[in-house]
Amino acid sequence: MQQAASFPTSGGRTVYSFPVTAFPGLVANIYLVDNGDELILVDCGSGMAQSNQELLAGFDALREQFGVSFTLGDVDRIVITHGHIDHFGGLPFVREHTDAPIGVHILDRRVLSHYEERVLVAARRLTSFLIGAGIAPEQRDNLMAMYLFAKGSYRSTPVQFLLDEAELLAGIQVYHVPGHCPGQVCLRVDDVLLTADHVLAWTTPHQAPESITLSTGLGHYLQSLAAIRRLEGIRLALGGHEAPMADLCGRIDAITALHEERLSRVLELCHTPCTIAEISKQLFGAVRSYHVLLALEETGAHVEYLYQRGELIAANLDEVERQENPVLLYRRV
Ligand SMILES: [Zn+2]
Ligand SMILES: [Zn+2]
Repeated sequence: MQQAASFPTSGGRTVYSFPVTAFPGLVANIYLVDNGDELILVDCGSGMAQSNQELLAGFDALREQFGVSFTLGDVDRIVITHGHIDHFGGLPFVREHTDAPIGVHILDRRVLSHYEERVLVAARRLTSFLIGAGIAPEQRDNLMAMYLFAKGSYRSTPVQFLLDEAELLAGIQVYHVPGHCPGQVCLRVDDVLLTADHVLAWTTPHQAPESITLSTGLGHYLQSLAAIRRLEGIRLALGGHEAPMADLCGRIDAITALHEERLSRVLELCHTPCTIAEISKQLFGAVRSYHVLLALEETGAHVEYLYQRGELIAANLDEVERQENPVLLYRRV
């Protein structure tokens, strides 16, 4: 039986939570906001068999531990915090149990509603990123196969409403915080903030370059972190993974410091011209399988941030001029 949790808010509402295994080794948190007269499901796992099974079992855990007898069929609205499969992949399964309207930020809507198109286009962009990063064809094919495999078997599901900062959603304040994902949102329920994957307790949320997906990228992310840090009266932050956070500002400061340190590491390495693949190896060492892709994207986000700001420049202009898809070498200005 999963360990469920219950968090009362200052406004007399309750946020319930339980974990599901989204993928082997990746646990995601599901939240239920109980407004008294309305029940809102926040995220729904990956759609893998174990994730779906634990989504149902989570409701049983709530009944046993807190005596609340909700079922998936009692949910009035479904809110998806961002367009990553570990958060929305369960939608086709949830649809078998309820017709409750599904909401997401507009910048992630097409990921949910036109998934097959989105995966194809993103895969194209990712391929050209990997070419420019200096990844050899064979390794590139392996990485792309892994990328496509991790996309699972989701089926596009229509979205019924959009999350908007300007409108309260059942008394919940929405904050749009692009960076980790274009349509990433945080949700404020009184003095509790659901931070989704914008702020996590232990892990620094993954970053990827905007050249792959618009409205991601480190610049947007750091700006969004600063925006959330300015919020007043947040007593508790609850992430899309990992443990609750009592000190949201402290956590944001630690994440910001880590990125600043990583940016200076990149600048240091680029005293001699480097490819993104070379920088990634220096930053993250000998990582394996899917982590190679994550490390490259993370490095790409940092290099792009410095390049956009004129602190790095392309060092091999001859090749850039001559070749259609050149491997880029970056050097410090
Ligand atoms: Zn995510
Ligand atoms: Zn996630």
